[in-house]
Amino acid sequence: MRDILVFYSDFDNYSQWKQLLQRELPDLDVRRAEDIEDPSQVRYALVWKPPIRFFHRWPNLELVINLGAGVDALVSRDDLPDVAVTRLSDPNMARMMAGYVLFAVLRYAREIPFFERMQREAQWCYRHPRSPETLRIGVMGLGELGKRAAEELARQGFSVAGWSRSPKRLEGIECYHGLDSLSAFLTDCEILVVMLPSTPDTRGLLDAERLAALPRGASLINVSRGDIIDETALIEQLQSGHLGAATLDVFAKEPLEVSSPLWGMQQVLITPHLASVALPDSAAAQIAENIRRLRQGKPPHHRVDLQRGY
Ligand code: NDP
Repeated sequence: MRDILVFYSDFDNYSQWKQLLQRELPDLDVRRAEDIEDPSQVRYALVWKPPIRFFHRWPNLELVINLGAGVDALVSRDDLPDVAVTRLSDPNMARMMAGYVLFAVLRYAREIPFFERMQREAQWCYRHPRSPETLRIGVMGLGELGKRAAEELARQGFSVAGWSRSPKRLEGIECYHGLDSLSAFLTDCEILVVMLPSTPDTRGLLDAERLAALPRGASLINVSRGDIIDETALIEQLQSGHLGAATLDVFAKEPLEVSSPLWGMQQVLITPHLASVALPDSAAAQIAENIRRLRQGKPPHHRVDLQRGY
C-alpha cells in the first residue's frame, strides 16, 4: 500500500506537481481528493487554500505542506489537524520576489513613471539620476524573501535599512527590530517595501499614523499582504500627496474591487498578486526531502510556528 499525498490548489498545475513529486519519490502516490478511495492512506497534503473541512477527511495525515510562502490563510483555519505544517522555502522563489522588488524600486529610483509621462507628451525632459547611495530604502520583514530582496537592493548600492521582530545582523543593511524602533525606521524611508507576513501582530500595522511617519512624497511597495496596510489611509495619503506613489501587488480583498479608487490613480501601479509564485521545478525536491525526513522519523524543515502565525 503506497502513501498518498493529496493535492489541492485552484492556481497550480496538478499534473506538473504530480509528475515532479513522483520523479523525486517513485513510491509516493499523488492524487486529487476526488480520486482517493481510501482516505486512511493519505499521509501528506500539499495545499493552497483548500475548501473548509478539507482536512477532516484524512484521519492519518502527518504533514500539511502549504503550497506557498505565506501561511496566513492556512493558520487562521479552525480545521487544521494537529500535525506539522511546513511552507515552501525555495531560493528561486526568493529570487523571483527580489527581482520584482528590484524592478519596483529601480522604477522609482530612476523616475521611470515621470519619463513615461514625458514621452506621451513628446517631451525630452532631462533629469539627472540620483546616485543610489543617496536613496534610503526600508524593507519591513527580513525573512526568507525580505532578506534576499534587501541584500539585492544593497548590492545595487542603495542605502538599505531593514525591520524585523528579532534582532539581525546583515552586511550592508542597517537593522532595526521591534515596535519601539518602528517610527525611527519609518521616518527615514524614501521607499518602503513591505515584506511582512500577515499575522495578528502585523494586520493593520501600517495605519494612518505610521504611514504619516514616512517622509513626504515617499513611495510604498507592498508585495506581502494587503491587510498589513490600512487601505483607506493609504488611499487618503496618496490623494493628499503625503505618499508620492505606490506599487501594490496585494490587497486587503482580492481581486481588488472595480470600485477601488486605486485603479484610477496615475501614481499607483497595480499587479494581480504575482510578485513571486511557487515554482514546481525547484520546490518539488524540497517537499520530497521533507517527506523523506518524516519517513525517517526526523522533523521536517521549514516548519511554520502556528502560535506566531508565520
Ligand atoms: P518569513 O516568515 O520568512 O519572514 C517574515 C519576516 O517578517 C521575518 O523577518 C520576521 O521577523 C518579520 N516579522 C514577522 N512578524 C513581525 C512583527 N510582528 N514585527 C516585526 N517583524 C515581523 O516570510 P517570507 O520572507 O518568506 O515571506 C514574507 C511574506 O511574503 C509571506 O508571509 C507572504 O505573505 C508574502 N508573499 C507574497 C507573495 C506575492 O506574490 N506577493 C509570494 C510569496 C510570499 P523575524 O525574522 O524576527 O522572525
